[in-house]
Amino acid sequence: IAPSGYPRVYASARPAVMRWVPSILPVALQCGRMTTDDHEPLLNVSQALAIVDAVAVRPRTEMRDLMAVIGCRLAEEISADRDYPPFAKALMDGFAVCSADVREPPVDLRITARIAAGQIPNEPVKPGEAMAIMTGAPVPEGADVVIPVENTRAHEPSARVTILRAEKPGQNIARRGSDVAAQCVVLANHQRLGPAQIAVAASVGRQRVLIHVAPRVAVLATGDELAATGGQPGLAQIRNANNPMLIALLQSWGCPTIDLGQVVDDPNLIETRMRSGLQEHQADVLLVSGGMSMGQFDYVPRVINQLGFSTLFTKLAIKPGKPLVFAEGRGTYAGKFIFGLPGNPVSAFVCTVLFTARLVGRMSGAAADAGNSRWITGRISEDLPANGWREFYQPALLGALDFDGLPEIRPLKWKGSADLFTLARADGLLARPANDPAQPRGAVVRLLYLQG
Ligand code: AMP
Ligand code: MG
Repeated sequence: IAPSGYPRVYASARPAVMRWVPSILPVALQCGRMTTDDHEPLLNVSQALAIVDAVAVRPRTEMRDLMAVIGCRLAEEISADRDYPPFAKALMDGFAVCSADVREPPVDLRITARIAAGQIPNEPVKPGEAMAIMTGAPVPEGADVVIPVENTRAHEPSARVTILRAEKPGQNIARRGSDVAAQCVVLANHQRLGPAQIAVAASVGRQRVLIHVAPRVAVLATGDELAATGGQPGLAQIRNANNPMLIALLQSWGCPTIDLGQVVDDPNLIETRMRSGLQEHQADVLLVSGGMSMGQFDYVPRVINQLGFSTLFTKLAIKPGKPLVFAEGRGTYAGKFIFGLPGNPVSAFVCTVLFTARLVGRMSGAAADAGNSRWITGRISEDLPANGWREFYQPALLGALDFDGLPEIRPLKWKGSADLFTLARADGLLARPANDPAQPRGAVVRLLYLQG
């Protein structure tokens, strides 16, 4: 599949790009140069993201009660069922009057009625009259201004009120339809539903809405050294930290999750457990961590192929996280995806936050580049050395706002991709471009913000 004139990487049989499928080829071509002079050809982060963004996904939709849609994305457009507000509405407690009557205060007017919110005024306000009105009540015919109660003096026994200050016509009244007119779109398709959007849907009369269903994600850890989470590890063992971490990340993005536990480095056992995730548990996305690189017992990339998945990339120019596999299902597994993550927890975390978030976001109804990530620009708190040839994501703290409104970004000491303890103290990941030169204190840098 390497006609002459294609960049060198397509002609190479190196493992960085194992099998090029037609849907990916155009994206890869747009990515341009994919080799480095002194390293084997590796995709960079944006090239890999372009591949993740180009795979065909099959979003599912479902009608759901408004009380169970927080964080979901809409799969329909929602319009106003009537004008909002549906009537001219008093915005203050006070007196509804004719503005012509109160041009030269103080003015004495006769109180003819009292209108509470929810009542319909049954007669108009005539010149020389006022109606006491409460916030949210319909303004009666004839009145074109509401005088706030603090600008009046009422004389209860005589049912009269003195207006002490004039107001312009229309003041303290929301015109019918002034917030939004009937039939206007109030929530766009694909919009994420937070508390305010849910309130809008409720306002326009929706009790159920059509939403995109987040994909089901199964999580499996591999490694002879892994003890079950909560178990007592032997001397050469470590506890499986990746599954709880990845499941938490996915749950924070609204995905139903399946914990497939951990399995030893045995290709048959790995394959059986992966199949169970994809078939029995009906996972749409499978995350497998560990055994992804070139070690003697790294079987996962082979198993992914045996399952009939097409591998779209196997290695990236990223630190931490170089051995990242992304594969697309074929045949019975069409529409399903596998991320093969590095075993080291910080690497697995970074890869999931960058790449899985993007795919899961799109499968949950988001636009391609609107994943689950938030970038923040800030000023670095100390001199930074030059970065190497891989894009680098380093745990960092977000400090106070600077004089120019940019937050300070404080890098935490990098102790390697196994150091979960530093990651757990971080507010985000400081992103350094490949080959970024040394940066002086105060230089503007980017942070991938990590929410709770
Ligand atoms: P691997 O990618 O299998 O070569 O593993 C790289 C490193 O990550 C090794 O030190 C493993 O012990 C560690 N590791 C692999 N899987 C996990 C896991 N589920 N939880 C914690 N550490 C892990
Ligand atoms: Mg291993």
